[in-house]
Amino acid sequence: MDKQQTQDQINALKKVLNQYNYEYHVLDQPSVPDAEYDQRMQELLKLEEEHPDLVTADSPSQRVGGPPLDAFQKVQHNIPMLSLGNAFNETDLRDFARRASQGIDGEISFVCELKIDGLAISLTYENGEFIRGATRGDGVTGEDITSNLKTIHSIPLTIEETETIEVRGEAFMPEKSFHALNKAKAANEEEPFANPRNAAAGSLRQLDPKIAAKRNLDMFSYGVGEWNAAEITSHSERLNKLKALGFKVNPEWRKCATIDEVIEFVDYWTNERPNLNYEIDGIVVKVDSLDQQDELGFTARSPRWAIAYKFPAEEAITKLTNIELSIGRTGVVTPTAVLDAVKIAGSTVQRASLHNEDLIREQDIRIGDTVVIKKAGDIIPKVVRVVENKRTGDEKEFFMPKNCPACGSELVRLEEEVALRCINPNCTAQLKEGLIHFVSRNAMNIDGIGEKVIIQLFQEELIHTMADLYRLDREELLKLDRMGEKSVANLLQAIEQSKQNSLEKLIFGLGIRFIGAKAAKTVAVHFETMEKLQQATYEALVEIDEIGEKMADSMVKYFSEQKVIDLLKELSELGVNMTYTGPKQSEGETDSIFTGKTVVLTGKMESFTRNEAKALIESLGGSVTGSVSKNTDILVAGEDAGSKYDKATELGITIWDEQQLKDMTED
Ligand code: NAD
Repeated sequence: MDKQQTQDQINALKKVLNQYNYEYHVLDQPSVPDAEYDQRMQELLKLEEEHPDLVTADSPSQRVGGPPLDAFQKVQHNIPMLSLGNAFNETDLRDFARRASQGIDGEISFVCELKIDGLAISLTYENGEFIRGATRGDGVTGEDITSNLKTIHSIPLTIEETETIEVRGEAFMPEKSFHALNKAKAANEEEPFANPRNAAAGSLRQLDPKIAAKRNLDMFSYGVGEWNAAEITSHSERLNKLKALGFKVNPEWRKCATIDEVIEFVDYWTNERPNLNYEIDGIVVKVDSLDQQDELGFTARSPRWAIAYKFPAEEAITKLTNIELSIGRTGVVTPTAVLDAVKIAGSTVQRASLHNEDLIREQDIRIGDTVVIKKAGDIIPKVVRVVENKRTGDEKEFFMPKNCPACGSELVRLEEEVALRCINPNCTAQLKEGLIHFVSRNAMNIDGIGEKVIIQLFQEELIHTMADLYRLDREELLKLDRMGEKSVANLLQAIEQSKQNSLEKLIFGLGIRFIGAKAAKTVAVHFETMEKLQQATYEALVEIDEIGEKMADSMVKYFSEQKVIDLLKELSELGVNMTYTGPKQSEGETDSIFTGKTVVLTGKMESFTRNEAKALIESLGGSVTGSVSKNTDILVAGEDAGSKYDKATELGITIWDEQQLKDMTED
């Protein structure tokens, strides 16, 4: 690349970064995920490092934040409020430690703190009284938002310190407040905030403090600007002192003697992050000794004695090229976004769930849109929002069809449901999904038949119902693609073996609505034979502990269908066992799906805290461990699952989402 090309590229990056900075810092409405911004900034930093003569003072790499809004009085920061350098991996952290130790004499120790995803705030106290609170602004000039900050209960209005002190910290919006705020915004048809950080910034930069007061903001203090307290020699002492003065200091900080300990802290919080009730976007690592901090000093934009490790991006932007429909085994028709492949948190994503038509309308998602994708613990990620300013006008609105794309029957919306369903019991797509469930591990556990084989058998019209599986013929199977003597023999043996399964596996495999593996076991133990279960009345069913009304109702309806009666008769005639052959249990004692299983939890769940999920699984006989290994039986992945999810995928471990955990426990 010649000099002019480099200059052009730098100019283009500066332009786009300035635009992003303005949207993020001034408007509190970013149009791209942070990772996109960070990536562009890294590109600019690299070019500027290779061509130092092209660095200008107005480059976004040399500047902090954005200009203050005119609506507020301006506040000059006597000591600039800077940004932080970024580390994205272990190597960057080790480089930081190496650079720091080269710059000073003696041993270094570090303090690690959670990087709260809010906005930097300065609080000035004179004679023990809170007199002024300001935003960081562009680092030199901020906005006076004292009245708004006074609405935050964790900011003390008076302290026992006569020296003038400027305390710095992060104002943030706890997740609960954020969700409540966005819900209220949606109800008023207002644009929701993209994330809690922007919500906090938007709330504090309101002219009317009553608005900020309603937003339930909070603040963690982590540093000091001006302060003459000679006896304090380290950052860790400062944190303790701030706490003693009555400021809210985040308790999760740790002093680390080595960079290895720092990396351990980073790893720990990479996993634990979903359990916090506020958002963090990384870990801040600071040199502990204040003398050493002075020795290391600052660059134009950030201190040399601190660095911010950023968690891997969980959001990315890409293009939504199509919307496809899939039909589940209960007939629910789900729209799925087809995306241009994009990397998120280490894995490539090409599809994302759109859940239902209401959600598509709510978010106004169109085919051809540029969208923000978030990797969640679910099997497929989800679309968070549309980047509207990337629209060209060629995007197409999507409407759900009136008829099932597989069998053509009219789709219906059942009462109290948002989903559209195909209610044709002979719908091929449903039958296929039902069969995939029937052969799965917790059901009939037919080794060697997975989704691919079922699809193949279906396409070749060798199977239509569960009973057909037991009629498969060696000769016919041998004619199929990729089916050799050995695989056919194994497959037939696995099918044969499944005939001996205890009753609960068959009940679960039938895929009766609301009947998870645990309920299947409960009724199998209780009734002992399929015949007795088929004859059970609603009253007899609800009388059983752990069988609720919905389940009882669903079973009664299911077993009264002629098609089901015929199917069970066929299965029985084909030699499938119809009795419970598991251990007899004494009153009150039931074996569960978790008995003897090692379970790992990751990501955030809506219905349980991590501790609740753990207690629940343990109460059902499972053990919960912290990391995924080949001894793990099940990984339960909530939203924002990270490296554990990737590892479990790699090791081929069964992965459940929150709904599956609920299915297996609630019933
Ligand atoms: P930063 O967020 O990377 O780091 C500096 C800030 O961290 C400090 O100013 C402080 O507010 C905060 N912080 C949180 N906890 C802290 C702690 N314990 N100790 C010290 N500081 C702590 O830098 P920045 O300059 O505030 O913002 C730049 C970042 O903002 C970018 O990396 C990017 O992710 C995001 N951004 C995004 C867009 C966008 O369009 N999406 C635009 C501009 C900036």
